[in-house]
Amino acid sequence: MAIVKETDMVIVGSGPGGATVARQLARSQAGLGVTLLERGRDWRRHPLYGTYPGGLLYADKHALLFTREGLNIIRPLMLGGATSMYCGCAARPLPWWRDKYNINLDAYADETIAELGIAPLSLAERGVASTRIAEAALELGMKWFPQDKFIWPGRARRFDCGAKCMLGCRCGAKWSAAEFVDEAVAEGCDVWTGAKVNAVLIQDGVATGVTGTVHGKRFTIYAPTVILAAGGIGTPRILQRSGLAQAGQGMTMDTTVMVYGHAPYKGIGQDPPMTWSYADDELSVLYSTLIDPWLMYPIIMALKGPAYPLTWRRWGRTLGVMIKLKDEISGEIERNGRIRKGLTANDRQRQAQAEKVAGNILRQAGCDPDTIFTAPLRGTHPSGTVRIGEMLTADLETEIKNLYVCDASVFPEALARPTVLTIISLAKRLSNHLIAQDSNPHS
Ligand SMILES: Cc1cc2nc3c(=O)[nH]c(=O)nc-3n(C[C@H](O)[C@H](O)[C@H](O)COP(=O)(O)OP(=O)(O)OC[C@H]3O[C@@H](n4cnc5c(N)ncnc54)[C@H](O)[C@@H]3O)c2cc1C
Repeated sequence: MAIVKETDMVIVGSGPGGATVARQLARSQAGLGVTLLERGRDWRRHPLYGTYPGGLLYADKHALLFTREGLNIIRPLMLGGATSMYCGCAARPLPWWRDKYNINLDAYADETIAELGIAPLSLAERGVASTRIAEAALELGMKWFPQDKFIWPGRARRFDCGAKCMLGCRCGAKWSAAEFVDEAVAEGCDVWTGAKVNAVLIQDGVATGVTGTVHGKRFTIYAPTVILAAGGIGTPRILQRSGLAQAGQGMTMDTTVMVYGHAPYKGIGQDPPMTWSYADDELSVLYSTLIDPWLMYPIIMALKGPAYPLTWRRWGRTLGVMIKLKDEISGEIERNGRIRKGLTANDRQRQAQAEKVAGNILRQAGCDPDTIFTAPLRGTHPSGTVRIGEMLTADLETEIKNLYVCDASVFPEALARPTVLTIISLAKRLSNHLIAQDSNPHS
């Protein structure tokens, strides 16, 4: 028999978008019934959390999700969403949100920076080799900045994760959206893990709830307000199944490559990821310090070609410059589940320029020029699949009344920046809107 429930607000997905809305609504004085549905499980207390096998278990398709064009997407499916595997970087919402789209997120970002203590790591914690990359860039005229972080080494049992940080935080230093879920639960939010939403129920152009399966059982949850926060891939899939065919037409990814070089000294593998960054807004790229975790490295290099896994032996002396590109909206989430997404000619041209810059920095840092190469293309920020201005109002509402979207899919263009602080800010803004509406239902 199907499970049936009635509530005031149902939220789908527990990444930074869904977790923040759940926490803000549950905390509000409005006495709202809030149910949060997450298809993955809570891995935080599992022995495999933050390990290599764990990373493969909770990433979609065991981290082997590829677009038709061969771009590798890392898509964590678990409580906390992709913040369970992120690098803990924070970037303020870019001024174009306000100037181009009339969406002012500044106060929400300020509040979040203060409440979560977002700040760069200390110089010593940024890592010697990573700091050498920043110094080399400065010698070439690029003033890299210490990257703001959602990381507090002071609360770690032992802060020594290095590149492994991306498999999941074992030391406890890194904030994840699952912490907002915990706060929501403490305020009375009902959270279901293992609950995969299939579609939104719609009656006469108004959302009335969602249907799905939880641990093999079908469920229907009726709610007068539905918020989809299933991420840049999950949300358009649900909308497509609910009859909104435009969802998933075009996407952005902040496509990423790493440029590696062999240094005559210890590399960045033991440094926390992305401790120094530089934004070139003319070329629309973000550079940062980053290397693949030790055991992931040969797997990823095998995608580049048979000779590249051999460079694994010098992983301990490798420096890496990450290039995150503001890629153009292109490709598609197909109805059959496959994804089309590669680089446009313009993207490719800008990426080639950025690769030259990264190579110069590595040479300046002392890397052997013959060892410098670019690792395979990948994406960790699937976004822009249900864009504001095309499918959503500025209040994040779809053409279906009371059906909202609040995750990376709403981005009208690529950020080429860490996304999470912007998503939290959007979610706080939406929560205020919903609470105001609830207290004044005729507005
Ligand atoms: C390796 C890696 C490093 C990154 N580093 C950074 C960084 O340093 N800083 C930064 O700002 N960003 C970083 N990001 C990106 C950032 O984590 C994501 O952009 C962000 O988490 C997206 O938030 P979201 O709310 O849109 O969705 P997600 O975080 O993807 O959450 C969506 C959730 O919805 C669930 N879901 C999907 N479909 C369904 C369904 N049908 N029913 C129920 N639940 C569903 C998923 O399981 C998931 O938990 C990184 C990402 C990765 C993968």
